[in-house]
Amino acid sequence: MWNYCPSCASPEIQFDGSHRFFCPACGFVYYHNTAAATGCVIRTGQGILLLIRGEEPAKGKLDLPGGFVDPGEGALEGLRRELREEIGWVPPEQGTNFTLFASFPNVYPYKNITYNTCDMFFALDAPGLTERDLRLEAGEIGGFRFVEGRDIRMEDLAFESTRRALNAYLEIYGS
Ligand SMILES: [Zn+2]
Repeated sequence: MWNYCPSCASPEIQFDGSHRFFCPACGFVYYHNTAAATGCVIRTGQGILLLIRGEEPAKGKLDLPGGFVDPGEGALEGLRRELREEIGWVPPEQGTNFTLFASFPNVYPYKNITYNTCDMFFALDAPGLTERDLRLEAGEIGGFRFVEGRDIRMEDLAFESTRRALNAYLEIYGS
């Protein structure tokens, strides 16, 4: 990630291969810590909502709604914000039950930086949700599909963590 120390510009900066940068010249330390992220399996009357990624990484591949948790947010707060931004739909605050059913690590390469994430996956039942409720975020989202669980082609998914999550979902909730 860095060839020179961002603090003193020394080329001696060391990386432990995992997440710690250390500069022996000035003592600079940076932990490139795991980032929190969410994904949501929304089951509607027409199947599970999958989004087509409009941008890299994995442009054109299928993904679940969700994304990085911002500083200052809790996981569900971040997920609700992502739903609002990505699909223009959020379930009501009252009486909505997001169920955390799985968590897997993911690797997210973006513009020459690799982010390690801890993805948390939530299940949500929204039987009345239809395409008329969706307003997709221009650019970020290329489109959407409603797919029955058994018809999801795992190779069409963008990320390994999403594949593992959907497999876990289908085992727990059925297809
Ligand atoms: Zn330094």
